[in-house]
Amino acid sequence: MAKYVYDFTEGNKDLKDLLGGKGANLAEMTNLGLPVPPGFTITSEACRHYLAEGAVPDGLEREVAEHLTAMEKRMGKTLGQADDPLLVSVRSGAKFSMPGMMETVLNIGLNDESVHGLAKQAGGNDRFAWDSYRRLIQMFGKTVLDIDGELFEHALESLKGDRQDTDLGAAELQGLVETFKGIVRDQTGKDFPADPREQMRLAVMAVFDSWNAPRAILYRRQERIPADLGTAVNIVAMVFGNVGNDSGTGVAFTRDPGSGQQGIYGDYLQNAQGEDVVAGIRNTIPLQELERLDKSSYDELLRIMETLENHYRDLCDIEFTIERGKLWMLQTRVGKRTAAAAFCIATQLVDQGLITLDEAVTRVTGDQLAQLMFPRFDSGTEKKKIAKGMNASPGAAVGKVVFSSERAVELAGQGEDVILVRRETNPDDLSGMIAARGILTSRGGKTSHAAVVARGMGKTCVCGAEELEVSIGERRFTAPGDIVVNEGDLISIDGTTGEVFLGEVPVVDSAVVEYFEGREPDDDLVRAVDRIMRRADEVRRLGVRANADTPDDAARARRFGGEGIGLCRTEHMFLGERRQLVEDLVLASGDEERQAALDALEPLQKADFVGIFQAMEGQPVTVRLIDPPLHEFLPDLTDLSVKVATGDATDKDRKLLVAVKRLHEQNPMLGLRGVRLGLVIPGLFAMQVRAIAQAAKEVPGAKPEIMIPLVAAVQELEAVREEAAGILADLGVEALIGTMIETPRAALTAGQVAEAAQFFSFGTNDLTQMTWGFSRDDVEAAFFSRYLELGMFGVSPFETLDRDGVGRLVTIAVEEGRAARPDLKLGICGEHGGDPDSVHFCHQAGLDYVSCSPFRIPVARLEAGRAAFAECDSDTR
Ligand code: ADP
Ligand code: MG
Ligand code: MG
Repeated sequence: MAKYVYDFTEGNKDLKDLLGGKGANLAEMTNLGLPVPPGFTITSEACRHYLAEGAVPDGLEREVAEHLTAMEKRMGKTLGQADDPLLVSVRSGAKFSMPGMMETVLNIGLNDESVHGLAKQAGGNDRFAWDSYRRLIQMFGKTVLDIDGELFEHALESLKGDRQDTDLGAAELQGLVETFKGIVRDQTGKDFPADPREQMRLAVMAVFDSWNAPRAILYRRQERIPADLGTAVNIVAMVFGNVGNDSGTGVAFTRDPGSGQQGIYGDYLQNAQGEDVVAGIRNTIPLQELERLDKSSYDELLRIMETLENHYRDLCDIEFTIERGKLWMLQTRVGKRTAAAAFCIATQLVDQGLITLDEAVTRVTGDQLAQLMFPRFDSGTEKKKIAKGMNASPGAAVGKVVFSSERAVELAGQGEDVILVRRETNPDDLSGMIAARGILTSRGGKTSHAAVVARGMGKTCVCGAEELEVSIGERRFTAPGDIVVNEGDLISIDGTTGEVFLGEVPVVDSAVVEYFEGREPDDDLVRAVDRIMRRADEVRRLGVRANADTPDDAARARRFGGEGIGLCRTEHMFLGERRQLVEDLVLASGDEERQAALDALEPLQKADFVGIFQAMEGQPVTVRLIDPPLHEFLPDLTDLSVKVATGDATDKDRKLLVAVKRLHEQNPMLGLRGVRLGLVIPGLFAMQVRAIAQAAKEVPGAKPEIMIPLVAAVQELEAVREEAAGILADLGVEALIGTMIETPRAALTAGQVAEAAQFFSFGTNDLTQMTWGFSRDDVEAAFFSRYLELGMFGVSPFETLDRDGVGRLVTIAVEEGRAARPDLKLGICGEHGGDPDSVHFCHQAGLDYVSCSPFRIPVARLEAGRAAFAECDSDTR
């Protein structure tokens, strides 16, 4: 038969799924012999049953009654007994801590009779008894009866006036109880329930219901906590911090959750109960001062904190209450902490001999490391916020506003910091984006061009700040409140929050990035990062490469610990002044003209590759042959049409207009691109392969790998492979030839494709797009937020690899590819390569490496190390 109730003596800390974090840890402390009031836990399973069926499961009431009776026997008094009442708290407590999201009711068991019994218990302390009673009605009214809490607050406030709550006397509190009962009657049409057991029963159900309170739902969505876990409920014998000045309540950390420093961190409030400390009703005192007030409780508390740290082998936070000189533990858990503290604490615990360095690696996350790498705005200064957009790429950037790529390059060349502001960016803005400190757009979502490119570069970006009216022509933008920002004005953008500020906000640099750039560790945090990264590198099986297209990026990738380039895109090699040549290529009227255009491009591309091979010093470089549709390199259709219409057009413009119209596609993502271009435009891929091979010959030790994009059928690959292999052989250059797996068909026929490919690299951006049938640029802004709200997915499949769908295709391709060619090399080069959860997936799928933007390399290294510990999840909550 199902067991729905566990006494604190029956549970332990590993039963969080069933007992919730609070219940599991109360049981753990009980079993450690720490002073925990008696109590028991109703399981989250009972809650799930209640939420699904609208009624508590059979047998639950009987089990609760049995445990309550046992508790009453132990305590020698019964719940709400008139002359000597046992009181209890009814406390929520889910698997993951959801601070303040759900409900707790204290002092259950009080009514017009037992309030006198309670006073007697406390040696005739009427004030204390009435204070406890008014708290019960207040909490019960708000939580269980759904009465607006403000009503009680107002009544309390108007009684208090300028005084503190502790200044209220017994008679006043008794009056307040009457007022509160009146509020209950007015609001519900019924009297406050006097029956203690009925109070408890209703409170339990209210806690169950609080799982689905709107704020709890919102919090879970934000923190990615599953919606179907339910909460456990803890029934705990009350202890009282509000009996007088020899009593009180407090919270503490076993070390500083901000920095990880060991010491005494906590707050204490005399003559107070429950949430008074955090609610800030009176000023708390630092925990150290408890030593003066009650030395023996203080010493005991320190001993207990040490016991807990040694037992949990981690920072703990605790809640405690002192009742007339007797210390009681009411809660503990492994405490939340900042990213910096996480690294410091993990290595401190290693030094204390509490955990191994391997465990330290599992105690920190890639997300935390990423946070440590962003420059930040100084939190202490005043800022004038003028807009909020999407937090597309984190960091803090300050600079003069510019509205064009040219101007960005120009001013940056003069040593100015600039912020590139556009309605949205396109590939032509790349040089401006590189030159700028940050990018701000008024349109586009988290996967817009600006966002993706900025993240790749590790550059701060706020996108889709829709309140801004950007006028490129007038070189200014406006913000709500008649704010006009002209070219050259200073703004500050926060890519971590999406906020845009007028003027200059001071920025502090990340020491961790300086460390990755090669500076010797010189503070505790950086030393901690260094130790953990070294260990992660030793244990990881996955290689980590970079997505890098320029010698600068390549060099940074190496400094950050990359082991090669997994994706070197070549499209930028067709931009800028080379557009001319692409235009010639498109307009070529015969083989000869076309070849002439290609011949002109070849030495330029060769020089690009030389730079990259040199920067990589013998590490492998996977070059992807040109992928985007050619019309992306041609002038804009509208611009050309206007020119032609106004008679400003040259002959070439007129021809280009015809070409642009001819090349126009309804759905370019599924159009003439990738391998299809190579097959349709003779000589294009051959030119690129020759440029790669020539460059490789010039740089000793260069290790090129040639990657064919967008293959769907082995036949496509075979056709271009043959030509490429011929060129390599002619020039005497060795290079692997492989393909991207980014169409579902390629994944499903991987066994065939592997016959013609020496490596696969999963292009999971396109693969996600085609698997879901999402046009990435269109769907994110259009309906992803709605999808997230509806729970269609917990996180965008473009951010974290969708294991069930896209992941299944990857798994099939890995298995069938390796079966056909056992030495097939396997990697991933979509944006997922730097996403923690996706890195873990890649490890489990048996890939050889992940490739990600240079700035994500440390994150990928760390997560690859963590993935090597099989039991380690990609997140720790
Ligand atoms: P939360 O999850 O919001 O922290 P808790 O269930 O921990 O809620 O309870 C809120 C407050 O009430 C805490 O300060 C806790 O210490 C106090 N509290 C809970 N149960 C008891 C009890 N049996 N005796 C005294 N104080 C209690
Ligand atoms: Mg609470
Ligand atoms: Mg608590």
